[in-house]
Formats: sequence, structure tokens, C-alpha cells
Amino acid sequence: MVARQKALRPLPIRPALSPYQGRAVTVMGLGLFGGGVGAARYLARQGARVTVTDLKPAASLKPSLLALKGLPITFHLGRHAAADFTRADLVVVSPAVDKRKSKFVRMARKAGAGITSEMNLFAAACPAPIVGITGSNGKSTTTALVADMLRTHRPARLGGNIGKSLLDELAEIGPRETVVLELSSFQLEDLAAVGKSPHVAIVTNISPNHLDRHGTMRAYLSAKQNILRFQRAGDVAVLNADDPEVGTWKTKRCVRTVFFSAERRLARGVYADGTEIVFRLGRRTERVDMAGRNPLLGRHNVSNILAAAAAARVLGVPAKKIGHAISKFHALPHRLEPVGRCDGVLFINDSKATTPLAAKAAIEAFAEPVVLIAGGYDKHSSVQPMVGPIRRRARAVVLIGATAPKLAKAIGRGGPRVERAKTLRQAVRRAVALARPGDVVLLSTGHASWDMFDNYEQRGERFRQAALALGMKPYGKAR
Ligand code: ADP
Repeated sequence: MVARQKALRPLPIRPALSPYQGRAVTVMGLGLFGGGVGAARYLARQGARVTVTDLKPAASLKPSLLALKGLPITFHLGRHAAADFTRADLVVVSPAVDKRKSKFVRMARKAGAGITSEMNLFAAACPAPIVGITGSNGKSTTTALVADMLRTHRPARLGGNIGKSLLDELAEIGPRETVVLELSSFQLEDLAAVGKSPHVAIVTNISPNHLDRHGTMRAYLSAKQNILRFQRAGDVAVLNADDPEVGTWKTKRCVRTVFFSAERRLARGVYADGTEIVFRLGRRTERVDMAGRNPLLGRHNVSNILAAAAAARVLGVPAKKIGHAISKFHALPHRLEPVGRCDGVLFINDSKATTPLAAKAAIEAFAEPVVLIAGGYDKHSSVQPMVGPIRRRARAVVLIGATAPKLAKAIGRGGPRVERAKTLRQAVRRAVALARPGDVVLLSTGHASWDMFDNYEQRGERFRQAALALGMKPYGKAR
């Protein structure tokens, strides 16, 4: 029989006073990716006096403004006002803002305001274990894979740089669930201020990226290494043994290091053996055969799958369930996403390939000849990684954007036919004209989109629209 408990008098319900109550907080950079909205909403609900400011005008921020409708927030859009920085107690800076160069951030610092980020607010307060994923390429795909694998076994939440702020959900997150976060180099750079690294840290690969912001490769690497820097006893680092940089990274002695490889068998770790995933983590070796069940194109995605599988297995997900989650996975939108067909030509939207190495991986994912659309915003990365695959595998290349001349020069003579286009629409028209039945028209620019578009999503969507206008029969949308 259950003993009857003595009735306790309920405590009066009084919300605990938030440290943000009454504070003047400026959210700098609202953006469209969820971080600004998440921070503004969270802080407003905590009783802070929130001002949101963005250099973009209201018309370019509509979805984010709609998400904040009805909250007591002051908006200063289309410009920044000095007073929002000199009179703030706290400034939440978007990862898109270059803090070293921003005179407004400098002003806020000088006036004694705290400087933080949406991710820092979350990481400092999150009560659940965190799996963090970084790398120059493959972050989002690996993050989504980890979340799907974990969910076969236990509750998991997905957020971070993948486009979702979890700040809003903070109150619901319990210590028993797992939070899976995609972390960019900018978010990781900021994380040093709260001295936190994920309990399970995954690094997919490293190649030069964002050097226009980080300044040097050393600074970029140092930011990325924050994912390991503050790990503690019992934490896990999942590292790519095939990557010349990551393969040499040192982890703390108290941290368990698990390597993964798509290229070779490992004495310990997780690797690919033909169509099998092999787990050599404990005493037993486990194998999961993925023959005919891997939904993702390209060798690079084998690497992403292994990274995610290693983390999920370490967190207790049975190998069989991991295999099941992989077979149910779909390519994320804009990542080697098959969007349709026309006259035997397959259209692939890989707009998210914003580094030359990502474009290389995409070109190499196809046995068929590729008509490539490449070029874009100049982040001052070397285009060399994509030049070899272009010369070997492309039937033709149509170049767009700021780096078109640089790419044309690097591809040189004697390779595939190279054309230039002023707009993406024109590029798609030329690509279709140059393609033969059985070819792939591939949008994988190897560059960011900001010279011609708001973001890679807009570029990918315009590619799809242009192909549709030329008679492409669409597939269903991914996720
Ligand atoms: P991220 O979030 O790091 O940008 P995504 O998973 O969104 O990574 O993939 C972006 C692009 O990078 C893909 O479209 C693909 O072309 C390329 N890519 C993905 N994974 C890898 C990898 N492991 N190595 C190299 N390139 C990759």
C-alpha cells in the first residue's frame, strides 16, 4: 500500500527574479536565421527592456519581425543608434557582426556594457548534456543525423547554427534529454567567454574558411578548437581521422577521443568497410550493413554519417537503431538536394556549398558528367581545391558572381568549356543548353552568396525556380 503523504501547503507562486529583469538589453542583428528572434523573445519574456537593431530595413526582416509581434520590444531598423549601445547593460551580438570592426560594439564596451551572444546565453543556462558539431563542411548534415539517431532512443533537441534558437525552449529542457547543436566558428569564438565546450564534441573537417573575418588561419583554428578547449572529465571528442588538420588535434587527457574514418580501418573508432559501418569502441566489434540503404550522395556524406554514428553510439544508441535512422534520413534542402529532371538531365541544388572544398565534394559525388554553376562572394579562400575536380569531371562550367574572373583564370585553358553569366537565371539557361541527356546540372558554387543574394537559401530557391521555368519536373521538397 502506498503511504499517504502529508499534504504540503503549496508555496505561493512567484516567478524567480530573472537576472535580466529591468535590464536594458540591445539585440544587435536580428537576421532571418532564428538567433536574433530567439534572443529578443527570451530576454523580453525575462522582463528585460529589449531594443532590437539591424542595419537591414524592416522590409528585409519581415518573418523575424512577425515572430516578435506583440512583445514589448523597441525596434531601430535600417541603422544603428549610438544610444542603444552606450546606454545598454548588455548587448547580444549576432554572429554575423564582425565584433573587431564594429564601432558600435566598441562603444558598448567602452560604456561598460556586457557583450554576449544568443549561443552564450543558451550554453550558460542549458541544464542538459550538449552534443556540439563543428567543422568547415558537413555541420548541418551531421547535426541533423545525430539528432535523428538519438531520437530513436531518447528525447533530443536540435538547434544552433542550423537555424533554430533553443533559448525559447530553455524552461522545458530537462537534464535527461540531449541537446544537439550545430556550432559555427563565430559561435565557438564567443563561447570562450562562458568557458563551456559541449559534452560530446564532433569535428567533421577543417579547411580555410571565413578568413575575411577571422583574419588568419590560426585565429580560425583557435576559434574552432574552443569546441574541445573547455571539455571536462568524462566528455567525448569525436574527430575525423582522415582530415590532415583535425586528425592531429590534441584533446585533454581526461577526455575520451573517438576517431572516425571513411578511408581506412581503425584499430579503435568507427569506420567504413565497404557498405558497412564498423564500430570498434568497446570490447566487441559491431557492424551495420548499409547496402542499398544510404540515402545520401557522395563520399563526404559517408564521413558525415560516420561522425554522427560514432557520437550516437558513444551516447548509447544501439548500432542497429543507428542504421535505421540513416536509412530514413533525407538530404537537407540546398545540400546536394535532387530538385528535379528535364530531358534526362538531373538538377541538383547544392547552394549550401559555400567553400571550394564543399564544391569539390559535390562534383566528386557524381559518376555522370556535370555542368557546374560556380562562383560567388569572395571570402579570400583559395579556389584551388575545386579546380582539379572541375577539370577532371565537368563537361562545362558557367561562372557567376564576384569570383568568376578568379575561377576562370584558375581553371585555365585545355579544361572544360567555361562561360560567364550575369544572373543565376541566365546561368541555368546556359547550363541546360550545354548539358546532354544523362548529365547533372549542379549548382555548387564553392562560394557564399552575398554578392548576388540575401543568403544561400534564396540562391538555391532561385536555381529551382529558374530550372522550373525551363521545364524541369520537380521532385518533392526535401525535409
Ligand atoms: P555546413 O553546415 O558545414 O555548411 P552542410 O551539411 O550544410 O555543412 O553541407 C554544406 C555543403 O558542404 C554540402 O552541400 C556539401 O557540398 C558539402 N559537404 C558536406 N559535408 C561535407 C564533408 N564532410 N566534406 C566536404 N564537403 C562537405
